[in-house]
Amino acid sequence: MKKNDILTGTVIDYTHEGNGVVKIDGYPIFIPHVVKDEQITFKLIKQNKGFGIGKLISIEEESQDRVTPPCIYYQQCGGCNIQHLNYDAQLTMKENQVKNLVQKMTKLDVPVKSIMGMEHPWRYRNKSQLPVQYKDGIVTGFYKPRSHDIVPIEECLIQKESHDHLMNVIRQLLEKYQVSIYDERKHKGNLRHIILRSGTKVNETMVVFVTKSHKMMNIEAIADELMTQFPAVTSVRQNINPDKTNVILGHQSKTIKGNDHIHDRLDDLLFEISDTSFYQVNHAQTEKLYHQALQYAELTGRQNVIDAYCGIGTIGLFMASHAERVYGVEIVEKAIMDAKRNAENNNLANTHFETGRAEDIIVKWQQEGIKPHVVMVDPPRKGCDAVFLETLLELAPERIVYVSCNPSTLMRDIQLLKEKYHIEEITPVDMFPQTTHVEAVCKMTLKG
Ligand code: SAH
Repeated sequence: MKKNDILTGTVIDYTHEGNGVVKIDGYPIFIPHVVKDEQITFKLIKQNKGFGIGKLISIEEESQDRVTPPCIYYQQCGGCNIQHLNYDAQLTMKENQVKNLVQKMTKLDVPVKSIMGMEHPWRYRNKSQLPVQYKDGIVTGFYKPRSHDIVPIEECLIQKESHDHLMNVIRQLLEKYQVSIYDERKHKGNLRHIILRSGTKVNETMVVFVTKSHKMMNIEAIADELMTQFPAVTSVRQNINPDKTNVILGHQSKTIKGNDHIHDRLDDLLFEISDTSFYQVNHAQTEKLYHQALQYAELTGRQNVIDAYCGIGTIGLFMASHAERVYGVEIVEKAIMDAKRNAENNNLANTHFETGRAEDIIVKWQQEGIKPHVVMVDPPRKGCDAVFLETLLELAPERIVYVSCNPSTLMRDIQLLKEKYHIEEITPVDMFPQTTHVEAVCKMTLKG
């Protein structure tokens, strides 16, 4: 077997990135855009030591789970990569991914419940982060896989429909006002990204222009036109990111027109959301996730709850009316400011929010003698910090509810926590349909 060979095989499984796996004489080859059980012909385009990469040439026997991707950019865009699978097959793939990881990494027999799917798995994203480039005209869209080359896009089927319309009008306004566009290679020019963020239950949208310099010519005029044409746009902001970096947002931002934040409702709670604060992108699935987390927490009104990695306080505030007291910690100061206002606006006075690293603040709380009965954690993809987990084991709450956007780090952290905790159950939640990302919530109880 060598590079550029044309080979035939059956897809036996998927990788975490959603690529199909074909084995030839025991050597695994990963191939995008194929479906399990399909018989395919492909070209071996890369031959690494432990695995190869293939490119699909033709499908000899097609799976019944294959569908025609509805998005016209599907072949080029790196945004969602499993649109060629019908939704049930996507859900099965993700559920199996969690089950396999549990087996492989924890060696425990943890029940994995059926994944919670969406009724209409499209148009769910309330946030669009659009890079802007100049290529014979101003283009916005998404990057091609493993590149910073934009696929110009006018319609994205996983973002809110209103965002399609908004991004197309914004692009026209950028042309009209001849806005300077950032060139990543030269680190010159100004406008880098456009971020659109909308409430789902509250019809408010924020538009953020991310620029290299403090000044963006005509930004006020653009904001005026946008707010006139789109009454839902209640906030236009500018974020300044002068650095040579892949990180989208800079540290400084200001309001150009309208409010500093937008609102949304989760259940009957109202939330204020700032531009740099984290907020879950899929409203319907977030409510399901939080309800599952609340159920796992088994609150009776008498427990102290820690909400670690709390963002704008959403999970903690969801729990506050069922708890004695809620303590939230989050690293982004603005998110904590949002969390405090959110507690106030929802009359949840039994809450306390603090800015800092969860691994530091939990130690501080331990020293102050705070004894949590339930600890909620919802860390970023890299999972919890080791110091955090050690302190958690010392604090020994009755229950830990772990919300994870990366099952691999969840399993890694379970390995540490399983000494003292019985890993009761995991429920995967499909927060990001059409993509391979999996969210999961896990219930752990202190061993007797
Ligand atoms: N629970 C929230 C936020 C989850 S996202 C929600 O459901 O909306 C994870 C959050 O962890 C982000 O807000 C991020 O800013 C924060 N974070 C990242 N590293 C952290 C750390 N070391 N300590 C505390 N918070 C951190």
